[in-house]
Amino acid sequence: MNSNQCSFCGRKRSEVQMLVSGQNGFICENCIEQAHSIVKENSSQSGFSPAKKMTDLKKPKEIKEFLDQYVIGQDQAKKQLAIAVYNHYKRLLHAENENREVEIEKSNIIMIGETGTGKTLLAKSIAKELNVPFCIVDATILTEAGYVGEDVESILSRLLMVADYDVEKAEKGIVFIDEIDKIARKSDNPSITRDVSGEGVQQGLLKLLEGSIVNVPPQGGRKHPDQKYIQVNTQNILFIAGGAFDGIKEIIERRLNKQAIGFSTEKLNKVEEEEYILSQINAIDLRSFGLIPELLGRFPIITYLDKLTKDTMIRIMKEPKNSIVNQFVELFKMDDVQLNFSDKAIERIVEETMEKGLGARGLRGTTEKVLEDYMFEVGECKVVNLENILSENLK
Ligand code: ADP
Repeated sequence: MNSNQCSFCGRKRSEVQMLVSGQNGFICENCIEQAHSIVKENSSQSGFSPAKKMTDLKKPKEIKEFLDQYVIGQDQAKKQLAIAVYNHYKRLLHAENENREVEIEKSNIIMIGETGTGKTLLAKSIAKELNVPFCIVDATILTEAGYVGEDVESILSRLLMVADYDVEKAEKGIVFIDEIDKIARKSDNPSITRDVSGEGVQQGLLKLLEGSIVNVPPQGGRKHPDQKYIQVNTQNILFIAGGAFDGIKEIIERRLNKQAIGFSTEKLNKVEEEEYILSQINAIDLRSFGLIPELLGRFPIITYLDKLTKDTMIRIMKEPKNSIVNQFVELFKMDDVQLNFSDKAIERIVEETMEKGLGARGLRGTTEKVLEDYMFEVGECKVVNLENILSENLK
């Protein structure tokens, strides 16, 4: 190894400003710069690129139409999400305008709905449409700094990972925080014991949500002193939180009754009544549930997802682009087998799944179970007609 020249371009030590030594060679500043630009160019081709001008931005209606392809029902949530996301990316374009006089603040979103109603699916689909990095984190793994668990900053480690460590792209991404209801304050009196996974985490999340520069451990987990950090500005990251908020209906009901603002459900049936009550949700209810006001202040948009009815579940089986029916038909097609689902069979699968209370998430499992024998014997007949499903096939 010649310690007097660059191992890449061969320039002499006297011809360059610096030579950086590696294990088996040297590199000069020119070659470093060139290598850097190659790396940058490649990473910018790696996919994500949000809209760069107003005309590239899809209007809320178009965003909703896109969501309709993947998510069935949930029109109210889709509409609110489409508007919020449109405004968010408009805000990003606005922030690039140097002559701006008004600063537009960001609006993070909370989605409330039972498990398996499409919260994650909505957030995932939105990120797909916008072509920005997206990650899902579970609020339950987080704890206040210094305790067993993960620091809140690890949320951003995941986003960085998805963005191939391109900080600029990660800074325009979307983070879905699942199970936000599980970090509700455990008791009304915070001083009895330290609430390290509840209120402590809520406090920790504040600085991420409002937009600040955060030191992120690249590999996630717990921060430690000798680690190198990547600095991420969260100002333009959109946070969408989701949770089931069990018991929220009773909290809303209590508030509505207390206010007695002509709240009459006499003319409504049970499903309509429930939907009406949920549609009245606001920050006060979430506060009663145990979210701290500072956190709620950073989630100005609160939306709810409807309970899935039998009809919606049937549509979920058949209609989305990658519906369960289509997926299994495709799977059988690879063995040259034609699989037909009768309406009755689909209805039976839905009924069985509803009993399990897993929302639409359970549909796949039930269908797998029903098709188990056919999949085992695949290829033995050319056509499989799924008509009447016997109870024993579901057990
Ligand atoms: P959660 O509300 O618990 O986040 P998910 O969004 O993860 O639920 O939904 C679980 C699965 O159920 C999804 O991957 C999707 O296949 C299906 N699903 C749930 N809701 C819907 C819906 N409204 N439209 C289409 N599919 C849905």
